[in-house]
Amino acid sequence: MSYREPVSDRSSEVTESPKESAEDAAFRAEARAWLEANAELRTGKDDWSLQRHHTDPEALRAYFERCRDWQRTMFEGGYAGISWAQEYGGRGGTSQQARIFKEEMAAFDVTAGFIDSTITMLGAALRFHGSEEQKRHYLPRLLSGEDAWCQLFSEPGAGSDLAGLAARAVRDGDEFVINGQKVWNSMAQAADWGFMVVRTDPDVVKHAGLTFILVDMTSPGIEVRPLVQAHGASHFNEVFFSDVRVPAANVVGEVDDGWAPTRTVMAAESQFIGGGTGDDIAQNLIDIARRVGSDGDPVARQELVDTWVRQKISGWMATTMMLAVRRGEQPPFSGALLKLFMAENRRRSGDLAVRLLGPAATVDVDPDADWAQLQLINRFSISIGGGTTEVGRNNVGERDLGLPRDIRVDRGIPWSEIPRS
Ligand SMILES: Cc1cc2nc3c(=O)[nH]c(=O)nc-3n(C[C@H](O)[C@H](O)[C@H](O)COP(=O)(O)OP(=O)(O)OC[C@H]3O[C@@H](n4cnc5c(N)ncnc54)[C@H](O)[C@@H]3O)c2cc1C
Repeated sequence: MSYREPVSDRSSEVTESPKESAEDAAFRAEARAWLEANAELRTGKDDWSLQRHHTDPEALRAYFERCRDWQRTMFEGGYAGISWAQEYGGRGGTSQQARIFKEEMAAFDVTAGFIDSTITMLGAALRFHGSEEQKRHYLPRLLSGEDAWCQLFSEPGAGSDLAGLAARAVRDGDEFVINGQKVWNSMAQAADWGFMVVRTDPDVVKHAGLTFILVDMTSPGIEVRPLVQAHGASHFNEVFFSDVRVPAANVVGEVDDGWAPTRTVMAAESQFIGGGTGDDIAQNLIDIARRVGSDGDPVARQELVDTWVRQKISGWMATTMMLAVRRGEQPPFSGALLKLFMAENRRRSGDLAVRLLGPAATVDVDPDADWAQLQLINRFSISIGGGTTEVGRNNVGERDLGLPRDIRVDRGIPWSEIPRS
């Protein structure tokens, strides 16, 4: 039994499409033909597009650059930013076409990796809050992968409470001078640019004195320190800023009104994570169970079916949301709900991957063990990244269930007067 069957004919199992119009069917055929001409079909364990934990920094960098190359190939072929306006480098198509392309691409051994998430996040911030000049300059470079970006939001004292952040930017003529520290910045070691939120006015309430600014990562005074994770790879970094000078023209939106683009990024990030990776995790687990002879085990069978059912439900939820958005209607549930559900699914499937393989999951270095280790160690990435599950539940409780608001001891107090360690 192969580690992974070719997925060419089963992407629809993960996200089922609604009945397609003739135009959409024609677009699907065109996209498929382009992909066949430009990419190889996925075959299994040797696929480079499978997410792995590269412990060698050179290998990680090479993987990142390969993802960037694929982004450039899609851009040149007219398949990047499918629903974005043409003047910003997009195709001028529909969000349904964007989804069709994603479904078709899932059958091929290609990925834009982390770059895809930054296109979603920064793309949303620039399109909603950027000046016309910023959109025309940055969006095509973002879509083509010419500029690779990182998110510079979290700080040692500000994650869930992001608006409490302390990195300071002080105006000096046509520039801002930035000092402070960010942390957990994915792939900052490979990024050309960062989108950052900084404090420009400490004497107003915490959400009011923030500014969203674009920073050239080669600017003097920036130090990027990779953080080594449990599996030996360095996806995250600490980034230190010492008197870093950034043109005031790089501010997105208004000075002191950076919370608006920041919220746009967080909403786009949450939606991106909720959309899943397209990986057929349930099928991978079933393949492993067959290989190790656990598919007849009564407990393993219960858990395999549970994983499959959950994956089906999250696929249907994602489709329901997409259809509502397409019809211009309010989705029947919030994006936060989908992310909460996915986070729980990922936790369960990570645990199951390791239970199926037993000790081999942690000591072997074959592709099954490699994949299982990644599922185990990364199983909390969705429940922490882009906002934690606990904070997500608070938000759903307040907005959807009308529960009393979470305790906020700093309400109405200027940021500079809030006690901090
Ligand atoms: C895979 C991944 C990628 C990431 N990438 C980036 C990136 O590129 N750029 C970036 O800036 N950051 C990034 N982050 C950081 C991420 O945004 C933060 O880890 C997250 O916002 C949580 O903040 P924190 O780690 O400071 O935890 P804290 O906010 O300190 O939370 C600690 C614990 O307290 C709980 N908690 C906090 N407040 C409440 C509350 N009000 N009610 C109930 N429980 C609460 C939390 O749920 C959590 O369990 C990434 C994180 C992950 C896991």
